[in-house]
Amino acid sequence: MQTPVWSDVDIAQHQIPIIDTPFVSVGGGMGSLAMIDTLRIAGIPAESLTVLSDLGVPSQTYEYLANNSQIPREERLRSDSSSTIDCIWGWPGYALREAIAKRDPKPAIQVFAEPILTEYFTPQAGQVYESVRREAQRIGWERMLRRGVVRTVRRRREGGYFVIHTPSGETGTTQGRIAYRCHHVHVAVGYPGVRMLPDLQAYLTKHNDYARVVNAYQPHLHVYEEALKRPCTIVIRGAGIVASRILQRLIDDRDLGNANTRIVHLFRSYPDGPQGESLTFRRPARRGWAYQAFNYPKAAWGGQLRVQLEQLEGEERSKLIDDMGGTNTAPRADWKEQLDRGNAEGFYQQLVGTLSSIQPSGNGIETTIQQPSGAVATLEADFIIDATGLEAGIEEHRVLRDLVDYGGAQKNPKGRLDVERDFLVRGTESGTGRMYASGSITLGGYYAGVDSFLGLHYAALRIADSLAENGFGSKIGPVRSATQWWKWARNIPI
Ligand SMILES: Cc1cc2nc3c(=O)[nH]c(=O)nc-3n(C[C@H](O)[C@H](O)[C@H](O)COP(=O)(O)OP(=O)(O)OC[C@H]3O[C@@H](n4cnc5c(N)ncnc54)[C@H](O)[C@@H]3O)c2cc1C
Repeated sequence: MQTPVWSDVDIAQHQIPIIDTPFVSVGGGMGSLAMIDTLRIAGIPAESLTVLSDLGVPSQTYEYLANNSQIPREERLRSDSSSTIDCIWGWPGYALREAIAKRDPKPAIQVFAEPILTEYFTPQAGQVYESVRREAQRIGWERMLRRGVVRTVRRRREGGYFVIHTPSGETGTTQGRIAYRCHHVHVAVGYPGVRMLPDLQAYLTKHNDYARVVNAYQPHLHVYEEALKRPCTIVIRGAGIVASRILQRLIDDRDLGNANTRIVHLFRSYPDGPQGESLTFRRPARRGWAYQAFNYPKAAWGGQLRVQLEQLEGEERSKLIDDMGGTNTAPRADWKEQLDRGNAEGFYQQLVGTLSSIQPSGNGIETTIQQPSGAVATLEADFIIDATGLEAGIEEHRVLRDLVDYGGAQKNPKGRLDVERDFLVRGTESGTGRMYASGSITLGGYYAGVDSFLGLHYAALRIADSLAENGFGSKIGPVRSATQWWKWARNIPI
């Protein structure tokens, strides 16, 4: 394990069986789907592609995280109609498809009027999952998928890489090791893990109280169930899209389930006017919330901001990403109405400050909040929900840590994998073999919206073009694109 480059003889000496495959995608989530879909559309046969994943269906982890953060199948996601993860062309968008399926023109009309006369159309989660299943089936996902856990990706002395994989047994357990000997690798392992705010993490470590202090991305249904049974005080932290959805769930339960929940929303910073220095680069903010339809302005995905970011390096690039993004939520009228009503009726209270102490008290938790004015507020709560969306660092993922320690990979200013404009992981080249990465693990690179459906497609297209330049497959030309779209539309397997 301490040898950075392995030879075929090393693997043979450890009696690890070798399977040859030209291309491996590690992860098997939405990023892998975007990558494999693009390569299949570009004409690469399924036999040349291997997906190594602990999942059977590409949307499984996404669905798990969305369900936990209170976005069930019938609720709407954040991205727009044309962010179609199942269709690299983005047309027909989810709005037109919903209009046809429900025989209701409203969603289709909405995309013509958005965002001036109406809010942006956003698809229902269930529609996205169904579309992913259909596309995965069409491109032969099952044939390419090998279930199990990837342990290590190492450079091979003779060029290319070894991907060490422990396959899942019939009972779901993992056994043994297999070395996939491949020419190119794509790493799309999603979030390395979720992390709590340090004060909450310290409380959890000390008191082992995982029932009352919960992370919004982890299962916490018991909080809502308890709040439906008895009056509860729930503290929520965070002012992003997940906090919005959790507040909606708590207030819906008050409105529809007669819950008597008091919500205390704790803000660390409290924007209450336009955010951003430049007149052309501002987002509105009101009562602690910064509003923006998507995590970044649309021009960051395909317009002038994408071009601008590609020209920047290091800290300057990192700063532009922060200026474009930051903590923000979507400006939805129903959310604003609920919070204004909660504020007026007193069941939704906002506090600005930091938690200076937190300890168990009877059946709840006692918190002390240090306010900016110097005043100290004490609060008895039943639950604390951390919706700050903190992602763990890449070193917490075994494969990524190993890539930094032994694979030649480096970290960018945001502490993620340092990638080129074509998503090549810098420093990991192995002979003519290339390693690419996509998803949140590349945030801080030359593209801002990496952790989005559109960003995963963008990365996949750049990687496919780069692979073609390196002799693996060919670029998708207009004729191929048109014929492949036709096949997609008719659901013809490729
Ligand atoms: C709640 C939520 C809502 C979101 N909503 C939107 C939205 O509306 N629009 C949008 O565009 N984007 C949205 N995103 C962002 C983004 O599109 C998703 O996070 C997307 O799933 C990212 O794809 P991925 O492949 O990077 O990660 P994932 O889809 O999570 O896939 C990574 C997979 O790799 C597997 N894996 C990790 N390590 C190993 C290993 N060692 N061996 C084998 N397998 C491994 C994981 O189990 C996981 O299944 C949302 C994200 C979240 C969390």
